[in-house]
Amino acid sequence: MSQTCIIVGASHAAAQLAPSLRQEGWTGKILLIGDEPYLPYHRPPLSKGFLSGAKQVNDLLIRKQAIYDKDNIELKLGCRVDSIDRAHKTITLNNGEVIAYDKLALCTGSRVRTVSLPGIDLQGIHYLRNIQHIESIKSHVKESNQAVIVGGGYIGLETAAVLKKQGMQVTVLEMAPRVLARVTAPELSEFYSRVHQDEGVTIKTGVAVSAFEGSDKVERVVCADGSSYDADLVVVGVGIIPNVELAEASGLEVANGIVVDEYARTNDPDIVAAGDVTNHPNSIYDIRLRLESVPNASSQAKTAAASICGKQKVYSTLPWFWSDQYNLKLQIAGLNQGYDQVVIRGDKEKGRSFAAFYLKEGKLISSDCVNRPQEFMVSKRLITEGKPVSPDQLADEGLTMSELL
Ligand code: FAD
Repeated sequence: MSQTCIIVGASHAAAQLAPSLRQEGWTGKILLIGDEPYLPYHRPPLSKGFLSGAKQVNDLLIRKQAIYDKDNIELKLGCRVDSIDRAHKTITLNNGEVIAYDKLALCTGSRVRTVSLPGIDLQGIHYLRNIQHIESIKSHVKESNQAVIVGGGYIGLETAAVLKKQGMQVTVLEMAPRVLARVTAPELSEFYSRVHQDEGVTIKTGVAVSAFEGSDKVERVVCADGSSYDADLVVVGVGIIPNVELAEASGLEVANGIVVDEYARTNDPDIVAAGDVTNHPNSIYDIRLRLESVPNASSQAKTAAASICGKQKVYSTLPWFWSDQYNLKLQIAGLNQGYDQVVIRGDKEKGRSFAAFYLKEGKLISSDCVNRPQEFMVSKRLITEGKPVSPDQLADEGLTMSELL
């Protein structure tokens, strides 16, 4: 086969899609183009082991160079794709090079949402999405004592936990009335606030940051209510936005992500997309959604690879996610949107191990499991298989999780 498949973006989705293409029988050329100067790497450790220093760049790599060599996957790193010409089936790089494709996979992911507040360009203020961001934070940690984290989502809280462990004074400023408000129930928010406070982190909710002040370097964070917080290190973690511009400019359908079907196909038969950047259907919940998680990127990439090879593998898996803070491993199964009941199994008031089950009209739709791997594994099955289970059974620690199956 003398055909060429180009993969744009070099992260979780791309690192899975390229070898999956070989497994699905693609014998043509595979060219993987990414604008970061690294081999595809695991992003979750950035706010965990890499920030703490427990992991180095080499530990982050999803696959070593030898694996790409073995599969004859060519990489062009530190290189940006600027445009797609769908009529002529070519892409143009930022260095002007034009490359022809037969099949194209868009794995462009997402980027941090930036803020345009006064003082945002002061030294010591960082975002957190890639290796360079963390290298920059780490270089400031050495000379800083007081960290302010703007945003109480998972990334903000993970960062707070690591910086606290490194001996810094840490304050988290969250605009919503509670941390993790976008993703979880008040019960979980209360639990995480309590744990962070027990660990010595200050959490302020309902505060909107309005400016950063300092001469060259940041010295304080000012809020709209007039309060201010001294800081010599600030990390802004206020969400991400999908990198859809390349697709949009080429005329592909875009609506909160590149619109794809259950086979990861765009509205162009020669172009697929996978990962954070897609808006895709999920048959378990019967909705379209855009997910920001590694399991989504990897599984959807397998589907996309099959589609490129002319096969049909439906992408329909239960979304799941995890977050590590202190000695807490949170594992989340499914989506809790629209829940009308929360059932707690275990002691969330004092302990550090429990599960929250979300039900909608009596049906289990999602779970948040803190240091509860059994509850996570079993609830995944219960949700996927639609097995009936009562709130009393879920709460009853006298019943093992396997008995619920
Ligand atoms: P991305 O990882 O965003 O990669 C896209 C790549 O494409 C980037 O390198 C980008 O620079 C590049 N690119 C974009 N446009 C172009 C272009 N035009 N030309 C060339 N290259 C381009 N998920 C979990 O499931 N669990 C976790 O615990 C977790 N923790 C996280 C912690 C942090 C700090 C971060 C930042 C993310 C975390 N995530 C976690 C989310 C997870 O990392 C993402 O869902 C995952 O990285 C998505 O992979 P992707 O390949 O779709 O996109």
